[in-house]
Amino acid sequence: MGNLRFTAIKKISENAISYDVKASEKVSSIFNENVFTLKTARHYLTDEAYKSLVASTMGGKKIDRSMGNNIANGLKAWAEEKGVTHFTHWFQPLTGLSAEKHDSFFTLKGDGTPIQEFEGAALIQQEPDASSFPSGGLRATFEARGYTAWDPSSPAFIMEIGEGKTLCIPTIFVSYTGESLDTKTPLLKAVVALDKAAVEVCQYFDKNISKVNATLGWEQEYFLVDAGLATARPDLVLTGRTVFGHAPAKGQQLEDHYFGAIPERVYAFMRDFEKESYKLGIPLRTRHNEVAPAQFECAPIYEEINLAVDHNTLLMDVMNRVAKRHNLLVLLHEKPFAGINGSGKHNNWSMSTDTGVNLLAPGKTPKTNLMFLTFFVNTIKAVHDYSELIRASIASAGNDHRLGANEAPPAIISIFIGKYLTNVLNQVEQRVGGNFDETDEALLKLDIHKSIPELMLDNTDRNRTSPFAFTGNKFEFRAVGSSANCAGPMTVLNTVMAETLKNFKIEVDGLIEKGEKKEIAIMQTIQKYIVESKKVLFEGDGYSEEWEKEAAKRGLPNVKSTPLALDAYTAEKAKKLFEDNHIYNHLELEARHEIMLEAYIKKVQIEARVMGDLATTIIIPAALKYQNLLIENINGIKNAGLPANLYDSQIAIVKKVSEHINSISTNVEAMIEARKKTNDLSNSRDKAIAYCDNVKEKYFDVIRYHADKLELLIDDSSWPLPKYRELLFLR
Ligand code: ADP
Ligand code: MG
Repeated sequence: MGNLRFTAIKKISENAISYDVKASEKVSSIFNENVFTLKTARHYLTDEAYKSLVASTMGGKKIDRSMGNNIANGLKAWAEEKGVTHFTHWFQPLTGLSAEKHDSFFTLKGDGTPIQEFEGAALIQQEPDASSFPSGGLRATFEARGYTAWDPSSPAFIMEIGEGKTLCIPTIFVSYTGESLDTKTPLLKAVVALDKAAVEVCQYFDKNISKVNATLGWEQEYFLVDAGLATARPDLVLTGRTVFGHAPAKGQQLEDHYFGAIPERVYAFMRDFEKESYKLGIPLRTRHNEVAPAQFECAPIYEEINLAVDHNTLLMDVMNRVAKRHNLLVLLHEKPFAGINGSGKHNNWSMSTDTGVNLLAPGKTPKTNLMFLTFFVNTIKAVHDYSELIRASIASAGNDHRLGANEAPPAIISIFIGKYLTNVLNQVEQRVGGNFDETDEALLKLDIHKSIPELMLDNTDRNRTSPFAFTGNKFEFRAVGSSANCAGPMTVLNTVMAETLKNFKIEVDGLIEKGEKKEIAIMQTIQKYIVESKKVLFEGDGYSEEWEKEAAKRGLPNVKSTPLALDAYTAEKAKKLFEDNHIYNHLELEARHEIMLEAYIKKVQIEARVMGDLATTIIIPAALKYQNLLIENINGIKNAGLPANLYDSQIAIVKKVSEHINSISTNVEAMIEARKKTNDLSNSRDKAIAYCDNVKEKYFDVIRYHADKLELLIDDSSWPLPKYRELLFLR
């Protein structure tokens, strides 16, 4: 290990890592190069097949089976021209990652003649032997069948790995009895639910609106470390985060990294993965340094939500692969390093109509303003009513390190809307008794649109502490973890929005039936919603202690750990919500809950093991070696007949080292015992809670404390694990 550390440092210091990237190409000339876009499809498909594909892509129509072969042939022709040899259904099981199983186009005819073939049936549906994917008990191993089915709303693409090229067909993944086993299926259902509910509400304002798409623009934060150094850190390799490591003398206090000049080696990596991404149609637009040293961010232009989610999953994959070429390791973990900022994945979310209107963009006329206000206030109401579920949707072992750690939005879900809109809502609220009349035209004439610059100004600093902030024409859900699959939180957000809009329509219709004018009915309902949900609005510093107290007073939930946060998924309220909107039946919901608990348990369990192993087999031995060296030195001084005061300090160090070794040893032993006890629990929720309280909370910090103290005491040249200063600053 020690050797690995110094070999890696030597390589970096000698600049021995080459990172050539060819000159940049014009993005527009490579964009979508490896995607079977409708434009490409037009070249390869018959009129009929093309029409069928368009209907499925745009209109969500089921693909016409008789067209399957026809489309498959076109796809194959295109792919083979590009040198593709294999195809795969590309899906996102509940591991949160992407999964693929490649099949060759090559096959043998009955007489043994080799041919290339891609049948419609293989395009439309496959049966991966899927017993090893998480299913939460939905699909016992003996009933291993599950199937993947083509999702035409996300286009097929070609994945290039070195010289190898594979045609990837985005699919959903469901069990034979129809329960979803992936992240995409519920997302698509939530998208449908939101579309339906939003269109109905849009009809109050514009009869021409017949479709509403949720839109998502994610911002991906990540750390980048030298792969040579990372290899010498088993904790990074196995858990994606450092379980030990003393803070470096210099961290992020100089604030010199954010938006700073991008280091050359990192820049080469960025250009390289961006190029791959462009070819896959991922519309990356922004890149910059983030707050912490070695932390960076990229963000695309927003897209329709299903595609945006696929693109983020694909991007994470591309980043991991491209990093290897640069001898770098991408860390997507929410908290790879203690003491400096962690990483998130802001989900910028809005809704747009088929008439080209962004429903969260303030309008220029009273009518469009009323539409804006309707969707704006419904979002607030949705987040207010289902804040526990929103919180649950971002819960993970990794994100627990971040939420509430005074750097990321807290575990309390609140919404920031800025001074101007706060004012607007106050004015609406104060209209006594909901008596809106003609004169209220004035209210709606508030020029919200023009005030956006002011709003943005307001946004820039304080609202960085808000988990859910309005940023002018979209909401930014900031509490999502950097490694998360966006589908989880976006499914919840779209579902709660659909539910809220449905109820909104019922209330407004009720008032209209009673003879109220439409606009007045809408304003009255908006007013009611503001009153009912304003406690979720918060403009102050979300990191402060006062906010925790204030939030408690307001009755806002503040659930800090994943096992407890996940309870929201199986609460009666959630079951009803998801069943009513046809997202999850209650079996599916129980299964997801189980899977998320399991994931939590396994993550903490692995971290605990890694901690125990590293402490016992790497850190303590290094400490003992150094201690022996000191003892030799002390004996040497003694034997030379020199006075005791010459080795006083050495003795003090020997003692300190012993104390730390003892503390580590006893705590590791105790942690192992605690784990054994925990493993005996059969109920997943109990087990997850025990892993949180009795293993992680009880032992991780103490063990780390003593190990990190040793790092400061022991001879640097015999410390085996690359240090924070190296991981964060050497490249
Ligand atoms: P910042 O948050 O840094 O100010 P931007 O406002 O430009 O940056 O956007 C951040 C992300 O929000 C980008 O991915 C952008 O495409 C996305 N975004 C912008 N408008 C929308 C929208 N209407 N719906 C969803 N995402 C959006
Ligand atoms: Mg942002």
